[in-house]
Amino acid sequence: MYSFPKKLKNLTPYNPISGEYKIRLDANESFINLDKDIYKIAIDEILLNRYPDPFAKRLCKAFADFYEISSENITVGNGSDELISVIVNAFLPKKARVLTFSPDFSMYNFYSNLNECKVISLDKENLELTSDIVIDSCEKTKADCVIFSNPCNPTSLGMEYDEIIKIVENVNSLVILDEAYMDFWDQSLISVVHTYENVILLRTASKALGMAGLRLGFAVANKRLTYALRAAKSPYNVNGVSQLIAERLLLNKDILKKNLSLIVKSVEALYLSLCKRNYRFFEKIYDTKTNFIFIKTQLAKQISDFLKEKSICIRAFDGYIRITCGSEEENKALLAALDEYERTWTDEKGRNNS
Ligand SMILES: *Cc1c(COP(=O)(O)O)cnc(C)c1O
Repeated sequence: MYSFPKKLKNLTPYNPISGEYKIRLDANESFINLDKDIYKIAIDEILLNRYPDPFAKRLCKAFADFYEISSENITVGNGSDELISVIVNAFLPKKARVLTFSPDFSMYNFYSNLNECKVISLDKENLELTSDIVIDSCEKTKADCVIFSNPCNPTSLGMEYDEIIKIVENVNSLVILDEAYMDFWDQSLISVVHTYENVILLRTASKALGMAGLRLGFAVANKRLTYALRAAKSPYNVNGVSQLIAERLLLNKDILKKNLSLIVKSVEALYLSLCKRNYRFFEKIYDTKTNFIFIKTQLAKQISDFLKEKSICIRAFDGYIRITCGSEEENKALLAALDEYERTWTDEKGRNNS
């Protein structure tokens, strides 16, 4: 008799938000839709009747050129999400000890649990992570693998290059270093990661590069790990349309860099506006090294619900909200809505106090 696995009994499909919102500031995507003229010509080349290149060699070359690294160290995935799943599945046996920190990207625990690893999730003190904490924790928990994002989603805080080097050189674990937001900061290990035997670095086209719809993630690692990863992934994991379009887009380095600077400007402006307004329902606005802003507030759900009524979607956590920066108009609409929330909130406080 087939017995339905216990681990699937309480599993629910990932559905970050339901409903239609005019302004989406919840998923850390780029607010810039890339110009179709750049990749229109690629459509003519696509052979839909043929399987795509299993290794996406041309795309990997374009990605390698963009970051000035070698394409022999790159494995491409259907989003870095898929790569996390493949790595956990292929590189870790069942019951392997996977160390994560909380808060961090939820998919690390999700895929590790699904693979029947033993997940050890440690709370971050003051939301911060240091090399000493990671090294000590790896040792104490006897972790086979440690996974974290740098800079971190959702805290938007980061560890500097030297700290990460110290970690990878002082742990016995496999280190999965998720640099999904490193385009917004300058502390990447991408140019040295191939010299380490225990590190797989992840990048994504979904955030700074503005291609979330294409579903592309990249793993950068030494040759041995790369060979194994390419062998373990499913053969045609990245479709031909995404491969060609992304290749064309990555060849337009100037445009991507210009868009990146627009996003950085937007997040800086939004950060300053939020600090200046000094809303009383925000307890703390964290520094940002990403394209989003993380804020401590006891009214996370209330604020998020209020904004939803204005067709603005942000991400609410327990005690925090995370706001992706949008275009100038989107940020303006967000600030106007928060101003209004401040007014109604003050009124209610006044009523409650009298
Ligand atoms: C968005 C995000 C990803 C997923 O990226 P995809 O390539 O779209 O799957 C991975 N890690 C972190 C930390 C993210 O925030």
